[in-house]
Amino acid sequence: MASSRKKPSSKKITAPETSSVTIDLQSALQEQFGFDQFKGQQEQIIQSVLSGRDTFVIMPTGGGKSLCYQLPAIVSPGVAIIVSPLIALMKNQVDLVRSYSSKDDVAHFLNSTLTKKEIKVVHDDLQAGRTKMLYVAPETLTKQDNLDFFSNMQISFFAVDEAHCISEWGHDFRPEYRRLRDMMDQINPNVPVIALTATATPKVQSDIIKNLGLRDPKVFLSSFNRSNLYYEILPKIKKDDTLKSIVKFIVSNKGKSGIIYTLNRKTTEELASMLMANGVKAVAYHAGLDSKLRAERQDQFLNEDVQVIVATIAFGMGIDKPDIRFVIHYNIPKSIENYYQETGRAGRDGLEGRCILYYSHTDVSKLEHLMRDKPLSEREVGAQLINESVAYAESGVCRRKVLLSYFGEDFGDQNCGNCDNCRNPKEKVEAKAEVVKMLNTIVALDERFATEYTLQIVTGHLTPQIKMFRHDSIEVFGIGKDQPSHFWNSLIRQMLLENLLKKDIEEYGVLKITEKGHAFLQKPKSFQIVLNNLFEDANADDDEAGAEAASGAAADDKLFEMLKELRQKEAKRKSLPPFVIFLE
Ligand code: ADP
Ligand code: MG
Repeated sequence: MASSRKKPSSKKITAPETSSVTIDLQSALQEQFGFDQFKGQQEQIIQSVLSGRDTFVIMPTGGGKSLCYQLPAIVSPGVAIIVSPLIALMKNQVDLVRSYSSKDDVAHFLNSTLTKKEIKVVHDDLQAGRTKMLYVAPETLTKQDNLDFFSNMQISFFAVDEAHCISEWGHDFRPEYRRLRDMMDQINPNVPVIALTATATPKVQSDIIKNLGLRDPKVFLSSFNRSNLYYEILPKIKKDDTLKSIVKFIVSNKGKSGIIYTLNRKTTEELASMLMANGVKAVAYHAGLDSKLRAERQDQFLNEDVQVIVATIAFGMGIDKPDIRFVIHYNIPKSIENYYQETGRAGRDGLEGRCILYYSHTDVSKLEHLMRDKPLSEREVGAQLINESVAYAESGVCRRKVLLSYFGEDFGDQNCGNCDNCRNPKEKVEAKAEVVKMLNTIVALDERFATEYTLQIVTGHLTPQIKMFRHDSIEVFGIGKDQPSHFWNSLIRQMLLENLLKKDIEEYGVLKITEKGHAFLQKPKSFQIVLNNLFEDANADDDEAGAEAASGAAADDKLFEMLKELRQKEAKRKSLPPFVIFLE
């Protein structure tokens, strides 16, 4: 347990600050990494690690977290054990370190991909004291042989990279991370720990400190503002329009690297083929591909043999490609955290980075649908995270402000000038009367129906189901037929976000009125909404990703049919812009 841990003994870690030799960090930076100066708080962080204190670094993607443990690892006696969640990530890091140092044995990784022979090389280098950094997967530490081996070695410190994986409130929960404290204690409880993450939500932070058992850690928190990133949300109305818009964008950004994130594997393949057919070098990447192919495609992207990688969230963590010029989200991400991380991969060199999210209500339902088989607690967490994502997408407020406030940072009310909402402010309308109408409708329906049915009632859309329930005779039937269905849909979403309503996902998304909603009915007040007809799905031929498990093949056929038809249609028009040469 964390509380039973002893203070680190300075003898074991031989921290330079406590010995008579002071290390010139500046020259180490120059000599080992070829950089002229430290970025942000790197120097202070490194000093904290070298002083033997537990250290917690919260720094956005691209901030330069790796150096915060790599440099101290090189200058400290013994080896630093670096926990990293992904095999691809480890390899990437080790390759980088080796390229700096010109000595291959300075860094190694130990994971399930190594052969017995390779493991022996690692062991030999470790025992000979040649290796300063050992990257391990959390699973590696759960193996008793490894634990025994490590407990006989001099460990300079433990670094836990991507430490948010320890929290289910993070965007990448990895249960094995929960066992790390135990494993580290078994190896040597006195070794200091540095935990690093780009996740800044207070909930995740406290989870990390608690679960990793950090003792009185020195915390370094950097700003999360990425001022060079341009954030934009575009409506995803018709699938073919969305595809065209993507192709057009990429073709007009010739030679610029980018990532497209999609919700499911099939779509990565489809979009990649579609881009290829349009002359864009693109590959798909997802967890369903074997690891060799994944590594190969990752390398192709890093080496610019391909321009675009179309991927599920399986791609990107820790990828060090500084000149990614755009990140497109083809589906709404399942949390703001995910969105921030994924968009954060653009413009890491500080230059232009465009982040475009195609948003539709249908995609939100798909995400909700995907959660239906998860245990209740996970579903509740998931629903809340999705709601925040939706709030972001539908918000008329500065995107940067919404993102930063999610991380507890106040951007103030200035115009950031680098997001769609700041460049084209959206109009707001008063919807007090409409909110009352909606609440009355839900009351009249005894809080027993989900959004779609409620919309039909409000707009007076007579369906067999409504006839069956004889709801066409209730007073609220058609109460809002002066407004289109998408207006009411948007209103419901904004009422959900303002906590006037809640959705019971246990019960198929039935709409319930919250305490705050009842209070509103008692005493209505101003309720301003942003008009979002922009985001309404005009037709349902959008890809059926959410129902992929059930109807993947059908959705496939539909896409190809659609592309074929589109191509024929376009061919009929005489002049073909370059982006409409669709699949054969
Ligand atoms: P993070 O893990 O925080 O996302 P990385 O450690 O991958 O970020 O570093 C991001 C980029 O910044 C890398 O290309 C790295 O080489 C570069 N970098 C790190 N520290 C410095 C520095 N002091 N000067 C210049 N570039 C740096
Ligand atoms: Mg990193």
